[in-house]
This record gives sequence, C-alpha cells and structure tokens, in this order.
Amino acid sequence: MRLLIVGPPGAGKGTQARILAERRGLDHIASGDLLRENIRAGTALGREAQSYMDRGDLVPDDVMIKAIEARIVDSDSKDFILDGFPRTQPQAEALDDLLERLGLPLDLVICLAVSDEKIIERLGGRRTCPACQRTYHMQYERPQDDERCDEDNTGLVLRADDQPDTIRHRLDVYHDTTERMLDYYADRGLLTSLDGDGYVESVAERVDQAIEARS
Ligand code: AMP
Repeated sequence: MRLLIVGPPGAGKGTQARILAERRGLDHIASGDLLRENIRAGTALGREAQSYMDRGDLVPDDVMIKAIEARIVDSDSKDFILDGFPRTQPQAEALDDLLERLGLPLDLVICLAVSDEKIIERLGGRRTCPACQRTYHMQYERPQDDERCDEDNTGLVLRADDQPDTIRHRLDVYHDTTERMLDYYADRGLLTSLDGDGYVESVAERVDQAIEARS
C-alpha cells in the first residue's frame, strides 16, 4: 500500500502517518524529518535547506525531489506513507514519474483539513523532540515529565518555524501552492479529504475508514 498524507502545517500529518506506519507496517517517509536529520548531521542538503525552513519557505523543488527520490529508492519496503511530500505540482509530477518507473502506483492521497485558526493554536503549543521528532502539545498532549520527551528524555523545543509569524507564512505557502496541487490527485480520483480536527485517535479512525473504503 502506498499513501500520501497532505494538509496544512500542524494538521497532524506526522502523528497520523506514524500511527498508520506502525499499524499497517509501512515505511514512514517524512520530508521535513529528512531535512531536519540532514541539518543535524551538517550535510550539504541540510545546509542548503536550513534558511528556507527557518523562514517557513519551501525548499527548492530540484533539491527536495532529489532527496526524496533517493530515500524512496533506498527503502527496503514497497509499502510506504509519504508525509509532507509532494507539496508542489512539479514535485507531484516527479513523484509520478518515479513511481511509474518503479512500478509502484499510489493507492490513496489523504488530505487532513484543519482551519487556519486551529493551526495557529496547535502549532504555538507544539513542542518537538529534537532527537526522535515526536511532537507534543502543551495543552492537548502533554509529555509525562513537563518539557522532556517520553521516549528518550530529551528536552523538548519550539521549532524555529513554529514561531507565530512563520506559522502564518507557512499557511500562506500552503494555500497558494500545496492546495492547488491537490486538484492533480482529485482529477484522478485518488484524493480523500477528511476532518483533521479532534482527538488523535478519532482522526486515526477517520483515516482508517477512508483507507478501508478504498480496499
Ligand atoms: P514539515 O516538517 O513537513 O512541516 O516541513 C518543515 C519544512 O521543511 C517546511 O516548512 C519546508 O521548509 C521544508 N519542506 C518539507 N517538505 C517539503 C517539500 N515537500 N517541499 C519543499 N520544502 C519542504
């Protein structure tokens, strides 16, 4: 099974993708995590991506496409969920070309819909573990020990791109660019949009129902 999960920043793509990957044995390929790992490791890709990410801009298509293509080709699994990629029309077309070459067609594109107001509230309270990337919310999904990750006890951080002005900018980028790309999948009958608001487990159930409805 090959899925894409799309939605505005902070819609819960990472959380839902992680749940799905675990329950259905999929490789979770997250473009933002891939870039952050490269930043931490000080690679050329990380150095190139950092300033775009800190401003809340998209990393240029050619750079992003190359990085994700390599990650997909290297994957041990033919079953995966792509989280955060594609975000632009050229990325969607490049992904199609690659999957066609590999003989791995897409099964479903899941879009998590969440209002801008809710996103601003969610991202402002979000804390991220810089070691394992797990996210928490200081109101809705608190870590057990105040500001430390439940998995590895690392101190949690507010990501640079989760600062209020940057959140607004990321939302503009989403509406101007990524939302437009969705027609590409809707036209081929691959797109399912669902309500991304509510408890993590309730959204996970909606996602599950959307997948079952397709199988
Ligand atoms: P995310 O963790 O998915 O919210 O991504 C964080 C940041 O990484 C984005 O704001 C972009 O700067 C960059 N990024 C992630 N995925 C992509 C992509 N598919 N295309 C361009 N930039 C991306």
